[in-house]
Amino acid sequence: MFEAILIEKDGEGQRVSRCRIPADRLPAGEVLVEIAYSTLNYKDALALTGKAPVVRSFPMVPGIDFSGIVAESSDPRYSPGDRVVLNGWGVGETHWGGLAGRARVRADWLVPLPEGMSLRHAMALGTAGYTAMLCVMALERNGVRPGSGEVAVTGAAGGVGSIATALLAGRGYSVAAVTGRMEEAEFLKSLGASSLVDRADLSGKPRPLARERWAGAIDVAGGSVLANLLSMIRYGGTVAACGLAAGLDLPANVAPFILRGVSLVGVDSVMCPQEPRREAWRRLTAEMDRDKLEALTVELPFSEVIETAPKFLAGQVRGRLLVPIAPDLE
Ligand code: NDP
Repeated sequence: MFEAILIEKDGEGQRVSRCRIPADRLPAGEVLVEIAYSTLNYKDALALTGKAPVVRSFPMVPGIDFSGIVAESSDPRYSPGDRVVLNGWGVGETHWGGLAGRARVRADWLVPLPEGMSLRHAMALGTAGYTAMLCVMALERNGVRPGSGEVAVTGAAGGVGSIATALLAGRGYSVAAVTGRMEEAEFLKSLGASSLVDRADLSGKPRPLARERWAGAIDVAGGSVLANLLSMIRYGGTVAACGLAAGLDLPANVAPFILRGVSLVGVDSVMCPQEPRREAWRRLTAEMDRDKLEALTVELPFSEVIETAPKFLAGQVRGRLLVPIAPDLE
């Protein structure tokens, strides 16, 4: 038996509970993992509250990421005792996920934990941190360098945004932290933000072009925030877009692309191939400042995950929520 959060659905709607499940109910997969840590991500909060159709089959154990130790493997690439991390691949959406004591998954989905990364640090970063690094890599690929000029990060007080702010500052970029919570100014400066921008500046009706402000941007918001950002990017700059916290739409026009050569690059962490995935985890191990990571991490007991999900969607959570499941495995 193992402990898990379970989402069930019937004609009356969705029910979420904490329960004990027999191990033989785990889905098929080559590798059985004892989970040490999971997290609460934006997508998990959507799944737990049913606010968006994230879960594609029921019953479902949510949790789009976890770190843990291999207990059994029928795949030669993994052996009992290996330390692994998993992000995405539909885990927690179509395949039972990480908010549980155990998971059985495909070997192709796992990443061996790089030397120097603890199970705890891996999930303090979690999918938010790994996505933030994919965004940094996208900006670099497009030629946005520390000397190019200030880079904006939206949703800066949230999970992806706070880690993106710390990573960029750590590499020597000047970071403009865009936030709806100006009361978090000191926190954002401690992560390395060089200036703060009120989210309201980017929430109005977007104009085709506005004053050129930033050499690049990492955007978690979408909607009119992303449209406004595009209109404010300097000639030849790039926006890496990964989220929809402000909306799924994009009320923009082509002026930034055809008059300023601005690029919009999409970032997906879920189906991201192994090579950039492993590169992101290697770089997180080397580059993420551990003191800053601790400062933006809050431990959320497994017993409080379900009740915390609505607060998460209300934007009341700062940084990252780390869920210890079996921390002694470390
Ligand atoms: P969080 O809730 O931790 O952070 C989102 C932040 O966005 C909030 O903290 C808030 O920051 C800001 N925000 C909230 N509402 C709005 C709004 N209406 N307009 C503008 N900004 C807003 O979530 P995560 O950081 O975990 O995820 C951020 C987004 O990235 C989500 O949409 C998520 O689905 C997406 N994502 C995508 C991935 C991918 O593979 N593409 C992977 C991981 C996440 P502040 O208070 O500072 O303004």
